[in-house]
Amino acid sequence: MELAAIGEHPVKPHPVGLFCPGCTQPALGQYPASTHQSPVTGQRYHLYHCPSCDLDFWWPRQLSPEIYRSAALSQYEGYHQGTRPFPPWARLFFDLIPTHSGKLLDVGCGDGAFLARAATSGFEIHGIDFDSNSIRIAREKHGLQNVVDQPLDLYLESVRRSHTYFDVVCFFEVLEHQAEPSEFLEAILGVLVPAGWIAGSVPNRNRFLAKLDRRFGAGDLPPHHFFWFSARALNNLLTRKGFCDIRILPSGNIGFQELLTKLVHLAQSRLGPFAARWPRISKAISHIALWPVAVFLWLGLTWRPAHLYFQARLGSNDGP
Ligand SMILES: [Zn+2]
Repeated sequence: MELAAIGEHPVKPHPVGLFCPGCTQPALGQYPASTHQSPVTGQRYHLYHCPSCDLDFWWPRQLSPEIYRSAALSQYEGYHQGTRPFPPWARLFFDLIPTHSGKLLDVGCGDGAFLARAATSGFEIHGIDFDSNSIRIAREKHGLQNVVDQPLDLYLESVRRSHTYFDVVCFFEVLEHQAEPSEFLEAILGVLVPAGWIAGSVPNRNRFLAKLDRRFGAGDLPPHHFFWFSARALNNLLTRKGFCDIRILPSGNIGFQELLTKLVHLAQSRLGPFAARWPRISKAISHIALWPVAVFLWLGLTWRPAHLYFQARLGSNDGP
């Protein structure tokens, strides 16, 4: 079996082991714990765990912008139609980030819902996403100007050429999609002001019913997600890249009523002709039947939340 290099680190063929893309320690002797055959790419992926930094990572990894543009997952359709609600995993940002002014860049800004709120809270906003449909929605729905559909490396190159630096760079639900998160963070470091802030979120590897989620949905699997983060793995990665004042908090849970409404909506879509013929009756039945399910899910997600919010400052000991 031929293996390509992961970043700049040499890779030894399976089953001898791989080098961890988070801490570069060899994961020698770590046999793939799990495999996934993707119907999207036709590729078989192997899951590894790094005992040094607690990172779970898939191999091989290649970011495929095309799968986001083509709305291969139903969750991307909402971005394209401008129907996505404000992302719940980004709510903590406005309470916790110590600054509310200066230039803010949102990498993977999607339909611009977060940027629109950031603009009203005092930031000069900039956004990038390689999904042109989402960028169109960001312009049309939120009236955003400084949002572009461009590959990140080209965008950052033009930013560096113009000597532009950002006070805050955000990337919500982006890190787990990267082929090399370490290289991604280094690229971000290059456009941050000294003592600048990063903020973002990742799915919580240890969230409630994660295994069930992965069994019935493809969103947490390659080629969508290549990394499964725990709080410890995320903290290790950010520390290693030179960030300090790191805060990692559970986030992303929605309220009980919103959860119940989502479940009822899902049930209605599955009921098809019955729901169309007797909408009121089917809705009432769905509400009664799904109420205990919503309670169970809500309690479980309160115990083990769906996402991890993080923020951190560039630098070490010189204060914000
Ligand atoms: Zn590691």
